[in-house]
Amino acid sequence: MGFEDNIRKVTPYTPGEQPENKVIKLNTNESPYTPSPRVMEALRGLDWDRLRLYPDPAMSALTESIADHYGVKPSEVFAGVGSDDVLSMCFLTFFAGNRPVLFPDITYSFYDVWAEVYRIPYETRRLDEDFRIVPSDYYGPNGGIVIANPNAPTGIGESREFIEDILEHNRDSVVIVDEAYIDFGAETALPLIEKYDNLIVVRTMSKSRAMAGMRIGYCFGNSRLIGFLNDVKYSVNSYTLNLPSIAAGKAAIEDSDHFREIVGRIKKTREKTAVELAELGFASYPSDTNFIFTKPPEGYKAKDIFLRLKEYGIYVRYFDKERISDYLRITIGTDDEMHMLIHILKEIIKK
Ligand SMILES: *Cc1c(COP(=O)(O)O)cnc(C)c1O
Repeated sequence: MGFEDNIRKVTPYTPGEQPENKVIKLNTNESPYTPSPRVMEALRGLDWDRLRLYPDPAMSALTESIADHYGVKPSEVFAGVGSDDVLSMCFLTFFAGNRPVLFPDITYSFYDVWAEVYRIPYETRRLDEDFRIVPSDYYGPNGGIVIANPNAPTGIGESREFIEDILEHNRDSVVIVDEAYIDFGAETALPLIEKYDNLIVVRTMSKSRAMAGMRIGYCFGNSRLIGFLNDVKYSVNSYTLNLPSIAAGKAAIEDSDHFREIVGRIKKTREKTAVELAELGFASYPSDTNFIFTKPPEGYKAKDIFLRLKEYGIYVRYFDKERISDYLRITIGTDDEMHMLIHILKEIIKK
């Protein structure tokens, strides 16, 4: 079969399960709350006839709202079909050199998949024993750097100084900071785009704005970097976000009250859940995200608890991967959902 040799073969990213039946879903870091009511209004107000036409390829209505909200120029904003699309475009655009791109050994498990599919050389740098990023690991020559802050699946966030130190030592490569969870804690690197022309800060509406189903992500960087990103985007697919998504994204970014309300609730539930897990003997990392990375008490295996919870209809995330196979990643749901989780965990962990 000669053609087999010409086929691009990759090991894809494995998304968390999306079960059809009614379960308590704490496995993919979605929001347990509804998006802004203004999103619904925007979708209801869509002009049916406009769907005949292609959407604005520059997505200006959305990028201008984002720019306005964060106090940057529209030319410093790029949007895509979820931050996965934005990150994928960033890999394709900024990592075209021969030196290896660097990221931690434990981080968002899509980074190595993009590197593989685009044939980008890469090396991972080991997190320390406390699962913290070691900045000096990123000081040498490299083809680019990707840091998730807060990191996933550990939930640990770092300060702006920490990110600036990595930038300071890497003036010759593009540094991407994936801030998918920044609204739940840690300090954004966004103000640094004025000072560092090699910085890209990536955000998503999937988690803190409760819009995973809408697929909207965006990033910030200086106009020159965003220009290169647009050149690649227009060379792959000019029309990425569809008309409803552009309208929904604009409505979502403009409703700060709803945003603050749902993020505040999740943070409160997170702190309560952390205490309850500790009482059951779980050892958790302090979380700056909408999930908790936790190790079951002595004598209990993470994988067994993951499977037992599933029998009860509670889905959490388990990674069968070196260094993290003793942990569970539990998304913060509503108070009721977390109450049910703790109740079932008490059943499983009989002292
Ligand atoms: C969820 C997540 C993303 C992707 O989210 P989208 O839904 O594609 O916007 C990117 N990076 C990290 C670290 C994530 O956890």
